Amino acid sequence: MPELKNCKRCGKLFNYVGGNAICNTCRHEEEAEFQRIKKYLMENPGASIYQVASELDIRIDKIKKYLRDGRLEIIGDEGLPVLLCERCGKAIKTGKFCDECSRNMSAEFSKTASKIEEKLRLENGHSQAGSIGMRYLLKDDRRKRR
Ligand SMILES: [Zn+2]
Ligand SMILES: [Zn+2]
Repeated sequence: MPELKNCKRCGKLFNYVGGNAICNTCRHEEEAEFQRIKKYLMENPGASIYQVASELDIRIDKIKKYLRDGRLEIIGDEGLPVLLCERCGKAIKTGKFCDECSRNMSAEFSKTASKIEEKLRLENGHSQAGSIGMRYLLKDDRRKRR
């Protein structure tokens, strides 16, 4: 069911269909920007995040967001660590957590998830618990693809 939301990027109202809460215009702009970064990195393998930011005039925190989303990866071990595991603080190349923490967390996560699901099933009946199960599956899927 479509839902009206304010775009996270430009603030305009748009028909939200799921995923990132940004409008179509911004989605295209972000995609174009992401493609520019990708192209630059293909031509300059191992470029640092600072280099990309200044060459392409893109804010560092935006590039970091792509890294956080797991869409970009830092190649090589040289240079400053730009991303830190949100759990243990170790330098990582992509995503939010280091391999070790993601492993530990997905174990904890599925435990918590089934607990939450059970709770919701008891409180709200089947349909809602079902949709929550779907969301967890999608998250797991993304983690495996990396
Ligand atoms: Zn927008
Ligand atoms: Zn960690």
